[in-house]
Amino acid sequence: MVDSLLIRGGRIIDPSQDMDKTGNLLIKEGKISWVGDGTPPDTDYDVLDAEGLIVCPGFIDLHCHLRQPGFEEKETIATGTLAAARGGFTTICCMPNTNPPLDNEAMINYVKTIAANEGVVRVLPIGCVTVGRKGEELVDMGELEMAGAIAYSDDGAPVSSPEIMRQALEYSRDFNRPVIDHCENLFLSHGGQINEGVVSLELGLRGIPASAEELIVKRDLDLARETGGHVHIAHVSTGGSVDLIRAAKEQGVRVTAEVTPHHLTLTEEDVIKYRTLAKVNPPLRTRQDTVALLRALNDGVIDIVATDHAPHTKADKNCEFTQAVFGISGLETALGSLAGLIFKSELSLNTLIAALTIGPARVLGYEKLGTLEIGAPADLCIFDLHKEWVVDTDKFASRGKNTPLAGQTLKGKVMATLYLGMPVYADKSMKIEAKVD
Ligand SMILES: [Zn+2]
Repeated sequence: MVDSLLIRGGRIIDPSQDMDKTGNLLIKEGKISWVGDGTPPDTDYDVLDAEGLIVCPGFIDLHCHLRQPGFEEKETIATGTLAAARGGFTTICCMPNTNPPLDNEAMINYVKTIAANEGVVRVLPIGCVTVGRKGEELVDMGELEMAGAIAYSDDGAPVSSPEIMRQALEYSRDFNRPVIDHCENLFLSHGGQINEGVVSLELGLRGIPASAEELIVKRDLDLARETGGHVHIAHVSTGGSVDLIRAAKEQGVRVTAEVTPHHLTLTEEDVIKYRTLAKVNPPLRTRQDTVALLRALNDGVIDIVATDHAPHTKADKNCEFTQAVFGISGLETALGSLAGLIFKSELSLNTLIAALTIGPARVLGYEKLGTLEIGAPADLCIFDLHKEWVVDTDKFASRGKNTPLAGQTLKGKVMATLYLGMPVYADKSMKIEAKVD
């Protein structure tokens, strides 16, 4: 293992320090040890040339599905973390909708142990809100927190009971951990396949109205206001949700929110073309919604980008639309799909990097991550904003090949990912070798 590595000549962007400059960065013993534009104080180090590349903190994904235990045919912690490394992610937070679900100390420990032994990046487990994700009984939140759960969520499903959601916000406030809600009123979304609108009419598919999301967002904001708890709204998909979150933030409610790459870049129209590969929950909405989501990300009403990486088997998607499962495999295409927004001047590079680094670190209260401050873990993403590549799902590290981007050419490619100073992914053109695959 390389002990010291100088990353030379890159454009170093670290929104946590308002840093955007060309320079050199020295990694020593797995930590950021020096940043400057001359020669570092040490003399003994290997050199990685990053001229023309962007060097930033490794990305943090607050929302992904690793499927282990229970659904290893879709993904494992090993394959999911490899996919993360390819996507530039060095920290990923996995949702607890496994089988069995992560609703007790033993299950949190299971994920931590497998991640430590088989994972290649940091995995932070999210615990359930209710026992078995059944929505009936609150988990022992203290037990989960002690075991290492960094947030609580029944994702895949909402916390339907307002009473349980209220209790969860009260308890989690004491642990200073967010409750992440998948906002969906199941009475309104029941049987729905895609956004309720012109496309659902055209395709003859049952629609999921915007109100199915917005009613629960509204409820959660009211409960957060009342309890002082921290609610994090997962995968915001509608302009109406954005308006509610904006107003709540102005009133000082403890709310943070995320948006996915697919809700920023695709609309309901894409379902016509990509069929089940664009079937996702919440559904892809209208162009007005994506415009509102982009505006919210730019002005900070939406705090972060999270992938909602939802890997599935081919059989899960190669079927009748109504039989297909919801979800997109997103870790490996996140940067490439989002970079397109930068070229269209819909998003700034610095905002995007902040939304993938210090943004999620702040949501979690983990401000030693997502930064290139001296002494921070040397978790880095090195990417070429202008390099074109073709999305070849056969080459995905993820077992989930389910993406509407398959076969497309994207501009913006991760060239190397370093976790604790160690390369865990490197493009063939980089003069460095990944230690894992
Ligand atoms: Zn969800």
